Amino acid sequence: MRNWTPLSQKLGFFLLVLGSFTLPASALNLNDSVALKYTYRPDQVSVIPLKDSKGKLYLPLTDVAKFYGVDVKFDAQNRRIDLSKGANKVKLVLSQPMFLISNPTESFPTEPAEVVSGQLAVTPVTAQDLFTAILGIDVQYQPDQQVLIAGGVKTEAIKTEIVAQEQKTPLTAPSVPASVIGARGEEEPVVVRSGPTHKILSANAYSVGRIVIDAGHGGRDIGARGYDNRYFEKQATLAIALKVAGLLRKQSDIEVLMTRNRDYFVTLKGRTQFANKHHADLFVSIHCNSTPRSKVNIASGTEIYVYSPKASSYFGNVETAEEMTTDSKFSFANDLHYQAYKDRSIKLAELIWQYIHRNLGQHMRHVQQRNFYVLGRVDMPSILVETAFISNPKEEFKLRDSDWQDKMARSIADGILAFKQVAEGSANGR
Ligand SMILES: [Zn+2]
Repeated sequence: MRNWTPLSQKLGFFLLVLGSFTLPASALNLNDSVALKYTYRPDQVSVIPLKDSKGKLYLPLTDVAKFYGVDVKFDAQNRRIDLSKGANKVKLVLSQPMFLISNPTESFPTEPAEVVSGQLAVTPVTAQDLFTAILGIDVQYQPDQQVLIAGGVKTEAIKTEIVAQEQKTPLTAPSVPASVIGARGEEEPVVVRSGPTHKILSANAYSVGRIVIDAGHGGRDIGARGYDNRYFEKQATLAIALKVAGLLRKQSDIEVLMTRNRDYFVTLKGRTQFANKHHADLFVSIHCNSTPRSKVNIASGTEIYVYSPKASSYFGNVETAEEMTTDSKFSFANDLHYQAYKDRSIKLAELIWQYIHRNLGQHMRHVQQRNFYVLGRVDMPSILVETAFISNPKEEFKLRDSDWQDKMARSIADGILAFKQVAEGSANGR
């Protein structure tokens, strides 16, 4: 996605400064109402605008959506707002300066949606962008007349709009906030189930029966932070890891173990000991990348790492120092590890790389080698996937999106299954 022009600007709208709305909230009266209308229809309604603590003007999102026949779903736990009308879908996350349209998938910067006076609220500028995207016709806010007006220049779009309006879908009430994410505090990794019996394989083959999925960070270790410090790496890694595990568990000949399956802290040593104790065949660690604040909009994409005693150079990563091997005591063991598992780790990384590249269209760098602690301490082929840059608002948006998480998880799982086939000798190569 290279186009960062706001949708309204893209369509040639003149963005007006909203500084003239300075009435205190207590002085709201009929004159302060904002009219919602169409250029080509007689019906119109008025809504009462909202003001935040700084006096900034907002429109009540559900009221505006209802008038234009747009369905609103609010997931309070994930702070996600989904707008839909027919095939058009727009997604946004509360307080995130970005929204995503589904077809074609494109994201646009915006003034964030917020909760104001207990209601979902968007600024007038955001309202015109969102409803332009979802109605497929131009929507403009005119501050001098306090009107939000929908009226297309495209006749076909207007016809579609009129037909759609006649089959208006009912408004969905916002959902009740769900309970907060699971228990905190330190716990042991998840207890192992008894494993599958290993297949009998040819001499060079490598059996993949038990896989450890490692959701990075957890509990007090939040990992890297999202754009506005409200979403953390530990949440994205757990969501994706659970989905990968769920997909792999559909295979009767694979046992999946997770270093954590809820939000609790597990040490790096605990993770590697867990994998070694259970003699897993593969170790797949899931993380998010991050860059310094000054580069938030630059760094993007997916990186996959395999272990190397020496780090290969790369751009931008500020993964926590504890994830790297800093002591030299283990260098000999790490060299052995490198020799023993290098080829299989690289093969696994390359296969997952291909699926992610194909399914998600992520910007991707080549498989890289690095001395990550967890990769060097497990006695099995191991990789670490930096799924996306949580520090980049566009990528944070993807990380928070359940559909995107599904695709990422599917790609990782498919890569693992492809590796299993190759390693066990049921496909060409090794
Ligand atoms: Zn991490």
